Amino acid sequence: MKEDYYEILGVSKSASAAEIKKAYRKKAIEYHPDKNPGDPKAEEMFKKAAEAYEVLSDADKRAKYDQFGHAAFEGGAGFGGGGMNMDDIFSQFGDIFGSAFGGGGFGGFGGFGGGQRRVKGSNLRIRVKLTLEEVANGVEKKVKVRRKKQAPGVTYKTCPTCNGSGQVTKITNTILGRMQTATTCSTCGGAGQSIDKRPSGADAQGLIMEEETVSIQIPAGVEEGMQLKVSGKGNEAPGNGIAGDLLVAIETVEHDTLKREGDNLHYDLYISFSEAVLGSSKEIDTVGGKVRIKLEPGIQSGKILRLRGKGISSINGYGSGDLLVHVNVWTPKELNREQKEFFERMQTDENFAPKPEKTDKSFFEKVKDMFS
Ligand SMILES: [Zn+2]
Repeated sequence: MKEDYYEILGVSKSASAAEIKKAYRKKAIEYHPDKNPGDPKAEEMFKKAAEAYEVLSDADKRAKYDQFGHAAFEGGAGFGGGGMNMDDIFSQFGDIFGSAFGGGGFGGFGGFGGGQRRVKGSNLRIRVKLTLEEVANGVEKKVKVRRKKQAPGVTYKTCPTCNGSGQVTKITNTILGRMQTATTCSTCGGAGQSIDKRPSGADAQGLIMEEETVSIQIPAGVEEGMQLKVSGKGNEAPGNGIAGDLLVAIETVEHDTLKREGDNLHYDLYISFSEAVLGSSKEIDTVGGKVRIKLEPGIQSGKILRLRGKGISSINGYGSGDLLVHVNVWTPKELNREQKEFFERMQTDENFAPKPEKTDKSFFEKVKDMFS
């Protein structure tokens, strides 16, 4: 059951337009996200109030709502379904806070804190998917980002109320003498600037949404879940404010044959019994393409060949990991008669009896070596 719009704003059904505006302003300040960071309840209230105001501030919509209730807006493209998003809400703020605060300032933006502050645009977030090869070598990614920018032709002026300081000082006479107090300028919300010329299509802060191709330099050695920051490529801020950042979350695609473990890579190589006996040369995958490696005759199953520096470059810049090739001898499950006879004869052959030497380390010793 949707809450009643009049109840959300705390006004009576006969409230005047001015009363509704005043009530909304109060709610918006109370539940403003800058004042309630990370509080989903406040955000919910903030959105509800905006939605209620959107309807009740419009004479036509209000009349429909009075007659049909919430049903008047169901199924439409408006508020029946998803409600308003934050951008919609903030872009209305110029109308509400502008006049209420006495001039087209950024009252709804940047916050209600004390002192002058440079308004900062909000951050944007994207995800980037990387192959293991891209992770290993580093890569430049070009991504399309929709970000708010100052509209062409927009101009800002020094806030006339505070002369750009973002603060107003008040002098009051008390029994202790004259007291001077500084408060945030309510015209510009502390930004020190307000909008002068607003081009058509721009929002109340003089911003427009624009698609831009941003180049992201991804260093070698990044890992799944890491976040990179491209400074200044988030949303721009009005006036002389600074742009927010573009936050890039790293995702990695699993490689077909190479497994990553820290900066090292692992590759499982399968060779035939005769290749193990006679020696061979095999092609293996690396992050730099395929390379051929030589296997000495008599190579043991379980042997690990270390290709130095063929792993992932360290993100700290300290060299690279290795590529560890695990040799697995493939044993056939079925033999023809001729093959069977051959191996039966070899069962008693002294040359086929296992004679592990000190150099053929046990599996456990090899694992220890790998991590040393
Ligand atoms: Zn000001």
